[in-house]
Amino acid sequence: MNYVVPMWSPPAVSVTNTEAVFPVRRIFCVGRNYAEHAREMGGNPEREPPFFFCKPADAIVANGSTLPYPLATQNLHHEIELVVAIDKKGANIAREQALDHVYGYAVGIDLTRRDLQGAARDKGRPWDAGKAFDQSAPIAPIRPASEVGHIARGAIWLKVNGEPRQTADVSDLVWSVPEVIMHLSALFQLRPGDLIFTGTPAGVGAIKPGDHIVGGIDLLGEISIRIAP
Ligand code: MN
Repeated sequence: MNYVVPMWSPPAVSVTNTEAVFPVRRIFCVGRNYAEHAREMGGNPEREPPFFFCKPADAIVANGSTLPYPLATQNLHHEIELVVAIDKKGANIAREQALDHVYGYAVGIDLTRRDLQGAARDKGRPWDAGKAFDQSAPIAPIRPASEVGHIARGAIWLKVNGEPRQTADVSDLVWSVPEVIMHLSALFQLRPGDLIFTGTPAGVGAIKPGDHIVGGIDLLGEISIRIAP
């Protein structure tokens, strides 16, 4: 095959204990999936159906990276999240079968240009400029469910320059991983290579040039990124 512009390497995420990598097809994200975070964003903490937005596959950033401060924002926010990696195709997946579609789990950060997201929301416009920008999806290596089991509980936390910002438990998810897969697969046929960022707990806040961001989830290890000075 010849391409009219140079072909790029497919985006891929490392997998623990192997040289093989997980190729990324799409990145889906769940909005407001922890009640305390829904409250801090001025939303309704009641159990409304989950809603979704997307990031481009090449928004992923490897663990340990230093990123430039993004374009066009004065208010870059961190959102620590449990990420689900899908390895089996399916639409209208039943909750009881949902975990059969999960390859593994990772710790990710849904970087957000909160000022652009807020402006879009106020005008009823799409969130892409606030959410789907370059290098907006740092993600640590995936741990296969065959090694670590399925993640339904455990501490989820994030620190900036050693100072705790977000601390919660995955069991606080409004919509569990099987329920997220059920709802998402009613809208899109899930495919191998899809990632799902499952939402962030309370405590989101601004990060600045020079900051060191570290987060983790029990059983999945840690993610560490730096924003260039
Ligand atoms: Mn998020």
